[in-house]
Amino acid sequence: MAEREFQFRNFAQGGERVPKELQMFIGGQWVKAASGAVRDILNPADNGTIALAAEGGERDAQKAIAAAKEAFYEGPWVETPPAERARLLFAVADLLAERGSDFAGSETLNTGKPLREAVYDVNDTAACFRYYAGICTKPHGQTYDVSDPMQTMVVREPIGVCGQIVPWNYPLLMAAWKLAPALAAGNTVVFKPSELTPVTAVMLFELLEKAGFPGGVANLVLGPGNTVGQAIASSLDVDKVAFTGGTKTGRSILEASVSNIKQVSLELGGKSPNIVFDDADWETAIDYALFGIFANQGEVCSAGSRLILHEKIHDHFIEELARRASKIRVGNGMDPETEMGPLISREHTEKVLHYIEIGRQEGARLICGGHRISAPPYDQGNFVEPTIFIDTTPEMRIVQEEIFGPVLVVQKFKDEDEAVRLANNSIYGLAGGVFTGDGARALRVIRRLRAGITWINCYNPTYNEAPWGGYKQSGLGRELGTFGYEEYTEVKQININLSVAPSGWFKG
Ligand code: NAD
Repeated sequence: MAEREFQFRNFAQGGERVPKELQMFIGGQWVKAASGAVRDILNPADNGTIALAAEGGERDAQKAIAAAKEAFYEGPWVETPPAERARLLFAVADLLAERGSDFAGSETLNTGKPLREAVYDVNDTAACFRYYAGICTKPHGQTYDVSDPMQTMVVREPIGVCGQIVPWNYPLLMAAWKLAPALAAGNTVVFKPSELTPVTAVMLFELLEKAGFPGGVANLVLGPGNTVGQAIASSLDVDKVAFTGGTKTGRSILEASVSNIKQVSLELGGKSPNIVFDDADWETAIDYALFGIFANQGEVCSAGSRLILHEKIHDHFIEELARRASKIRVGNGMDPETEMGPLISREHTEKVLHYIEIGRQEGARLICGGHRISAPPYDQGNFVEPTIFIDTTPEMRIVQEEIFGPVLVVQKFKDEDEAVRLANNSIYGLAGGVFTGDGARALRVIRRLRAGITWINCYNPTYNEAPWGGYKQSGLGRELGTFGYEEYTEVKQININLSVAPSGWFKG
């Protein structure tokens, strides 16, 4: 493990040694892909190789599923007392805190995100493990007094083998959101990171191993979605699949899950509205409008990507917004001055630029950005300017479709009803915000928003304690909080006869 850490740092500083292969963790062993294949893992700031990762396939996924199944049905895990599960999860959090800067640096190298955001993600990840470690030992279940001389007890039990598939925008944090509640509840897991961003997942599994989780309880498979991911989603031996990613992929996971009617939770895309009334605190609204869309380069499922402005403040607001957006320092995430990093890949950059072109063709007006940044030292990386479109109409593709990059579209409204109508005019329902000085109106508008995650007079803060998930095509189920824990449990009723005697139903 130490050698691999050294190699990452060495490489980041321009060292010439090729990093060791990142391997999978199956049944308590670090293994290469059965096919021997590897994939180059790239740094989005310059598209240089930072690591070589085992490129798993269906055979590897099946091996991991078998290991998780054996650990669930034959191993000691289900009988492991909650206090011991809690101890292991707390140990992961402690180990992570000790190595926080390594994790943050690696996350930035692999995703491009500014270091300050990666540091935030690492702290949040440790907090998530602590939160679910705490939940293990807290009271669960219910008892009912029913009409017969009977006591009914309701208990929560682990579901079994959980397949977990995550995207590339928050690789470490998404791993925590999946692994911590599933393991806290006593499941075994097969975890698959995005093929683009396996680095911190591998590092996290090194910590799970060091903390002492029994072999087979937590398995890591690397590789593409259409082979490894599909094998997990369609497996007859996986009891639940938990997925975060695009809505189109979510639909195919749902379809694959019918094989054995497995439980499914989906955290999908969004096109979230951020409504600003004319009585909002000016500085706060501008600050969060920027934070809502340009944090993490706009590669955020809950990004406030549609700014819905009251007509009275529209012109002045967008002028100030464009002025500040054009001053955002875009650069290599490893530079502490950087405020916005590169996009994840060349392919994704092309997709975002294509949407900007669509916006132009649809007749929306650019007031900021709109281009790739390609002058040195940006020429090898995936850098796009913070971009803002105005003069949009609700049916435009840039208003309706998730761009997943630093592109904000502005809509204009006259009154509260129109603001709500515009906000809800979407196939998505993940998040939304409202800025106003009128408390009653704030709550009124938020209650009318068809979205699962909402903010009043702020945008983006996320808490391990509170449920995360979307309405409509933004998903199924919730992560985080007690809701997220319950998604990893089955509910069992136990009826205890308090008067032990035959029922006498049949006379003979
Ligand atoms: P994606 O759907 O392409 O991939 C996500 C994961 O699914 C990856 O690990 C990928 O390998 C895997 N995958 C791809 N095809 C698969 C298949 N057929 N079967 C099984 N697995 C498959 O998404 P992405 O491009 O990595 O991430 C961006 C998307 O994720 C955006 O739409 C964003 O909104 C969404 N997202 C949602 C949340 C949320 O909490 N709602 C959080 C982060 C990202």
